Amino acid sequence: MARKTVLKLKGVDRQYGQGDTVLSILKGADFELHAGEIVALVAPSGTGKSTLLHLAGLLEHPDAGEVFINGEDCGHQTDDRRTAIRRGDIGFVYQFHHLLPEFTALENIMMPQLIGGLSKKEAAERAAQLLDYMRIGHRASHRPAELSGGEQQRVAIARAVANAPLLLLADEPTGNLDPETASYVFDALEALVRQSGLAALIATHNHQLAERMDRRVTIEGGKIVEF
Ligand code: ADP
Ligand code: MG
Repeated sequence: MARKTVLKLKGVDRQYGQGDTVLSILKGADFELHAGEIVALVAPSGTGKSTLLHLAGLLEHPDAGEVFINGEDCGHQTDDRRTAIRRGDIGFVYQFHHLLPEFTALENIMMPQLIGGLSKKEAAERAAQLLDYMRIGHRASHRPAELSGGEQQRVAIARAVANAPLLLLADEPTGNLDPETASYVFDALEALVRQSGLAALIATHNHQLAERMDRRVTIEGGKIVEF
């Protein structure tokens, strides 16, 4: 059976004005990501990895072209609908964890679920499960400042998938970690993706991690190409 296309970019352009010149980051970029697939996005700094992830995550609009999430053309949706898709179907992980400092690990993971309308009890149960799954159940009641970098990123990943999204976008999620911790965090992320069947696009500079993913793409001449 053909796997479902979770993310599709079609002829996407994105440019930034810089004084009199225009910086063309993406130009006619096409890309497809399927359910159950982990793809590495490997490209030098400044080539447009974050731009691409923000477009895919509906945090920005392309200047031309279309972004489809689960078959839905998101460019022509209202802001409310885009927000609903972002909250329900997309999880985002950043290089810096962006956890809320005054809340515990468990509460940080509960937050998107509470916003999504789940009861406190249900949200707490799922958050605890995810923490166990990421092998940090024993850190549930700690605030982010009391966690190591690797633990913080595992909480951030758990939070990103708390609402069972279809698509996980991660922007250099292990960029701040030493190689051993990065590998350990990636193990947890990979297990989660394999078990849940979600689709993941992960920007990384780490070629060893990229080698462990299903496919590798880069940005070249404004296009997304496999390598
Ligand atoms: P990467 O994540 O691969 O390092 P980015 O997507 O952050 O690259 O940026 C790609 C290019 O676009 C960079 O040259 C950056 O300076 C430029 N850029 C990104 N965002 C903006 C913006 N809001 N305004 C102007 N230029 C931007
Ligand atoms: Mg970036």
